[in-house]
Amino acid sequence: MIKKALSVASSCGIPLTTSVVECSDGATDMLISFVKSRYDARHALVVCDANTCVFTDKIISSLSCSVFVLPGNSHADEIHTEMLSSYISQNGLPSVMIAVGSGSVHDIVRFCAHEAHVEMISYPTASSVDGFVSGVAAMTMHGQKLTYPSTSPVALFADPSVYRSAPSRLCASGVGDVIGKITALFDWEFSHIITGEALNVDIYNLMKSALDRVIEGADKGGDEFVDLVMEGLILSGLAMQLAGSSRPASGSEHHMSHFWEMHVANPPTDALHGEKVGVGTILMLSHIKANAEIASRDIDIDISKIYSRDIVEPIYGSLTDGIINENIPNGVRSSALAKLGRSSLPANFEILEKLIFSLPTPDVVKSLLAKVGAPVSLSELSLPDNDDFVSTSLYYSPYVRNRLTFSKVISAINISERLT
Ligand SMILES: [Zn+2]
Repeated sequence: MIKKALSVASSCGIPLTTSVVECSDGATDMLISFVKSRYDARHALVVCDANTCVFTDKIISSLSCSVFVLPGNSHADEIHTEMLSSYISQNGLPSVMIAVGSGSVHDIVRFCAHEAHVEMISYPTASSVDGFVSGVAAMTMHGQKLTYPSTSPVALFADPSVYRSAPSRLCASGVGDVIGKITALFDWEFSHIITGEALNVDIYNLMKSALDRVIEGADKGGDEFVDLVMEGLILSGLAMQLAGSSRPASGSEHHMSHFWEMHVANPPTDALHGEKVGVGTILMLSHIKANAEIASRDIDIDISKIYSRDIVEPIYGSLTDGIINENIPNGVRSSALAKLGRSSLPANFEILEKLIFSLPTPDVVKSLLAKVGAPVSLSELSLPDNDDFVSTSLYYSPYVRNRLTFSKVISAINISERLT
């Protein structure tokens, strides 16, 4: 499958920054040889956190290089990027940075490597998120969840003896991140149908087959399944790199996860990214299916009112300016909703209805996630489990990104109706 991704890259003529992907026994030795052959190995910098430090010994001793250890469970935010940036400015630019860890370590390294114009290498220690080879860094800066253009790793080395040993909760979270592609791909197709947004079929199919393989493999369990999840996550990152954005991997379910990560309507939770994405997928599937009839309606919305301070501030508080700027960066015409024509939905109703009908039911996704030990409800994420919170999350999470999703349209129509 990973070879297929690399062949899609060459057939599309899209250069992949991550040109070396090794996901097999011996990957740690391959990483060491790779660094020795391409860089001044002694000046490489390994970055891990207190939890993943245990996996760095062989790499550091073989390369005789330095290591920077972030605190355990570091978040990808301005505090932790500053820690790494300060270390780099005090100790000189490394020849290459090696991210040893899971999602946050990768995002922190990616962000700092981009700023410092240094190449990075990915060494994932758990099959927990799909961001290892992504070209964007998902950061929480000053409370707002933002995506920054960033550095993709030049190579990824995933050693089964390392990532298979991760706690099972991390792999279950990775399944949630892969399952989120159900709604992410739906949203991409939805936008393609009604606005003509570019959709590369090869990239779409690559992501779809990664998703299908994880769904089909869920019954297997054991190491074989962990390998499938890791493969799906790597493919997802490569698909994002090929698309030049997170579009193939992130739709309304990720917006909901990001909304919860902003803590504007809920207390902070320790739930993992993929755990939130999995529950977000269940809620969004239910929302999309319940609102299928919206796909038959003419669009009559006032974008300036939907993104007015009166509507945004009661939910987003101090993040209001950032949210308005995200959605209408250059006036209402720059809103993703401005791409919709008045009759875009009814003109495509039959195909949209079929697309919505073809989505799995929330119960199917729920039982699959439960089978792998992932959370399936808000209370399992330590989030408020009541109708008000569900409704706030469904209607206001689409505000986190200026990206067209069916849920963004449902939210816009609902909020417009409340205003009249
Ligand atoms: Zn994700």
